[in-house]
This record gives sequence, structure tokens and C-alpha cells, in this order.
Amino acid sequence: MARSDADSWDLASSVGATATMVATARAVASRGPQPLIDDPYAEPLVRAVGVDYFVKLLDGQITLEPGNSAMLAVMTDVMAVRTRFFDDFFLAARSPQAVILASGLDARAYRLSWPSGTVVYEIDQPEVIEFKTRTLAGLGATPATELRTVAVDLRDDWPAALREHGFDPGLPTAWIAEGLLIYLPPDAQDRLFDNITALSAPGSRLATEYHPDAGARIGASSARMSQEWRRHGLELDMADLFYEGERNPVVEYLQARGWDVDARSRPDMFAHYGRPFPTGEEVGESIEALRQSLAVTAVKK
Ligand code: SAM
Repeated sequence: MARSDADSWDLASSVGATATMVATARAVASRGPQPLIDDPYAEPLVRAVGVDYFVKLLDGQITLEPGNSAMLAVMTDVMAVRTRFFDDFFLAARSPQAVILASGLDARAYRLSWPSGTVVYEIDQPEVIEFKTRTLAGLGATPATELRTVAVDLRDDWPAALREHGFDPGLPTAWIAEGLLIYLPPDAQDRLFDNITALSAPGSRLATEYHPDAGARIGASSARMSQEWRRHGLELDMADLFYEGERNPVVEYLQARGWDVDARSRPDMFAHYGRPFPTGEEVGESIEALRQSLAVTAVKK
């Protein structure tokens, strides 16, 4: 079903299922020799959501291999590098406030070593926030620093909700928007960055990921992903989850609003972390979408 203005979801449906998908990739990427990341919460969270396909992947009943789940195999490598990039961003920022926009099953508030006194805010839809918080508490996990969850839709007045939870725009903030932009309408993406800018004291930092041609190429890779899901009984058309339409390029948009911006291509990020970029033979043209993504960091002047 296509998107609508006030649609909502849990972690097994619609946009929420993509959070479970990336957490599955993080769980798999955390295994094996010399993993680039260590997210011990990803696996129990995915199991708790209980989507059969993702649980079978964790159990090895569905294998990540060409002709089976090739796209998810590539995504596992991509998630390892992406997760590490955002982890390193937060660890280097050392800001008194951190905001995880569209937090999904992100467990950074629980697993990163935050400087003492850091307040972390997580923003996502109510059912997503409630599920993760309850499940992690049930596992006996405690946040590694002060965590304030803000259950609000990012197409609504989230800055007001954030302030109500004690966010102080006078302090430098580290923001991440990971795996979010393509799920927002183009105008909501602009408003997101306008709001972040308005809430960012000088020295605030932002990290995000941007697909310069969100439309065509991302469509191809998501169609391939959905085919794999369907083959294993998960009926969810990823392409239906994206908002179409021309988007303002993130780098230029931020530069025009007083940010110093740095952007690195995904193959550069792989090289930075000493990992070979996937050849993509098994996933056809989809690899181009992944190759074109930019890892963006910015500092507010
Ligand atoms: N950032 C997390 C990560 O990388 O693990 C989750 C990424 S997941 C691909 C997309 C997330 O965006 C979901 O958790 C979803 O609930 C959230 N999201 C998308 N649109 C949203 C909106 N309008 N309001 C709040 N959350 C939203």
C-alpha cells in the first residue's frame, strides 16, 4: 500500500519493517571474525519483533547467498560500514546532547561509550519507541547515559516535542538521520533540515546519508530486495514506502543554511574502514544505487 500523510506502523509493517531489516543486517554484521561493528542488541530485538523471514535469516535457515538473499548479503556489508560511520561520528562529536532521528531499533544509547553527562534523545513513531524501550528493558539492558525518548512523527511538529522533553537549543548537539530521508516527502526533508538548523547552536554536528538520485536507482535496488522478501513470504513492496519527487540536494541545502559540509562516497567509506566494496555481480544494477550514496557530515558555523 502506498504512503499517506498520517500513516503509522509498528516494527513488522510498512516503514517500520525496514528498521527490522537493517537491524537484522547489523546482527549478522556483528558476527564472524573481526566484525566492524558490535551491536549485541540487534539480534534479540529482531527476534522479539518476530518477522519470520528475519528470524530465519538469524537462524541460518535462510542463507545470505547469490540467488537467495543476495541483496540482503550486500546490505549486511553496507550496514556494517554505515553503522560504524554513525558510531564514529557520535564518539568524535562529544556533544552534550545527541539526537537520533528515526531511531528504529538503533541501540546506540545503550551500547556506545558516551561522555559523562550526555543526554541522548531518540525520535520515532510511538509504536516503534515503545516496542524497543520495553524490549530492551525486558532484556535487562540499561541506557549507557541519560536517554529521553520522544514519540512523534517527523512530519509533525517534532521540535516542539523535543523541547518538551528538555532539549536545549543553546547547547551544541550531535544529530544523526540514518536511513530516514527517502521515507520523508521532499518538503518534509527540507523542513527537517530547517528545523535542525534552527535548533543547532554553533558547533553542532550533523551526520546523514544521502542518495543523490533517490528516485530511479534506489527504486531498482528496493525492487530487488522486495523480490527476495516475497520469495520468503514477506509481502512488502519497498518502493511503496518511498516518497517520489524531486529533492533538494542535501549538501548544497545545508551549505546554504550555515553548515560546513563534508561528503564522502560509499566506496570511499568502505576503503576508509578497510573493507572491499561489494562487486554487486549478484544484484545487477542495484549496486549502482548503493555506490552513489554519500555519507555526509556537517558542522554548524
Ligand atoms: N535509523 C534506524 C537505523 O538505521 O537502524 C532506523 C532506520 S529504518 C530504515 C527507518 C526508520 O525511520 C524507522 O524506524 C521508521 O519508523 C522511521 N521513520 C520514517 N519516517 C518517519 C516519520 N515520519 N516519523 C518518525 N519516524 C519515521
